[in-house]
Amino acid sequence: MDRDTPETIGALPVARTVAALRRRIDAWRRAGESVVLVPTMGALHAGHLALVAHGRALASRCVASIFVNPSQFAPQEDFSRYPRDEAGDAAKLAGARCDLLYAPDAAQMYPGGFSTTVTVGAVAEGLCGRFRPGHFAGVATVVAKLLLQSGADIACFGEKDYQQLQVIRRVARDLDIPVRIEGVPTVREPDGLALSSRNLYLSPPEREAAPALQRVLAATALDIGRGAEIAQALAAGRAALARAGFARLDYLEACDAETLAPLARADRPGRLLAAAWLGRTRLIDNLPLPPRAA
Ligand code: AMP
Repeated sequence: MDRDTPETIGALPVARTVAALRRRIDAWRRAGESVVLVPTMGALHAGHLALVAHGRALASRCVASIFVNPSQFAPQEDFSRYPRDEAGDAAKLAGARCDLLYAPDAAQMYPGGFSTTVTVGAVAEGLCGRFRPGHFAGVATVVAKLLLQSGADIACFGEKDYQQLQVIRRVARDLDIPVRIEGVPTVREPDGLALSSRNLYLSPPEREAAPALQRVLAATALDIGRGAEIAQALAAGRAALARAGFARLDYLEACDAETLAPLARADRPGRLLAAAWLGRTRLIDNLPLPPRAA
């Protein structure tokens, strides 16, 4: 089949090329409609569907993309074993009343000769940027491409990946990409664990230990909110994570909510962010730190 001819999976139209994506979106635009984009790497869960629901309330058409972006994985990371289920994802998107799935392959996103990278400064350098060199350049490049390919009015990203959200806000602002970036609150399991495609990797005992990440973040945020010294509250939080079975901690930090620089001023909104390992699985989570009385 010509890759530009309309394709569907079940009830859901699918575009596999930039040309097919633009044809659909141009037709909507001519009819005066607005478009929201929800970029994902697939293996969809209720967190992703919350982004679709959020987007649907803001625009008349919703496009979800699925692309497991090789350039944001380091060689030793889980690109090859990252869960993939396009048919299942398409059924979930159709059920969530998404209008179009954009599912390009790597050759479509990175054709021969591709050699441009979007490198983001300070906001991408700490936290996960320190432990995953090149990750945010991969994210920033692919998201800039998706925003420009779709020309979406609005794009939705989860607060679950809080540093990624701030990096993307910076990219859109710095490159004058005419899009509104929407952050959507983290969807959690009943026991507090943030939904993540990578939760599928957890063994039963690891799954049982995992909600401690959110519990420790909440306790640390409470301590800081009650006026505890930040360095002391973080040290107590790090010790609690080790006791809860997180044998390796990449970071637990209190940061400025926008710049992600270490939180220095009590009157600024902050964010408490952590990345920690259970066995071979790296989990991340974060919570807001409201401004405190100076
Ligand atoms: P991913 O497929 O993991 O790249 O995620 C795609 C989008 O879904 C990103 O904007 C994520 O931040 C968002 N997302 C992932 N998990 C959650 C969650 N538990 N709650 C809200 N958004 C999420």
